[in-house]
Amino acid sequence: MPRRCTVCDHPERHGIDGALVTGAPYRSVAKRFELSESAVYRHKTDHLPAHLLRAREVEEAARADDLLEQVRHLQTRALDILERAEKAGDLRTALAAISQARGNLELLGKLAGELDERLVVNLNVSAEWLELRAVIVGALEPYSEARGAVLKAIESAGNGSA
Ligand SMILES: [Zn+2]
Repeated sequence: MPRRCTVCDHPERHGIDGALVTGAPYRSVAKRFELSESAVYRHKTDHLPAHLLRAREVEEAARADDLLEQVRHLQTRALDILERAEKAGDLRTALAAISQARGNLELLGKLAGELDERLVVNLNVSAEWLELRAVIVGALEPYSEARGAVLKAIESAGNGSA
């Protein structure tokens, strides 16, 4: 019969883990949460590392999502500037925006590579991405050289995920 861990089953498990992580002595943690010292000690030794690992993974995924969101925001702005520069016939600004957009795409690709495979697949097949790609390529129609460079960057950003 498997032995239940009273700490893992405890409704305030996160608080207990948090206290243990900050280095609180297991004796005082046991007292505070009305647990036995041996249960807290066993939990700290046998279960806490796995909990921490899981928490770290969740945290890192959240951070990556956040970065991805920021780069997407930058990309929206770069494309907005590109559109306005294009309308104004400001070739120089348009090229700067294209260069920025290309950097964003490379960054998106790298970020996606650091995330799990599912996310890479999502990035490549999401309607949002396909739409964005069409917008970029369309906006670059008059600038064939830049268009080629961006297409190349898109391709290399998608490498390894097809
Ligand atoms: Zn436990």
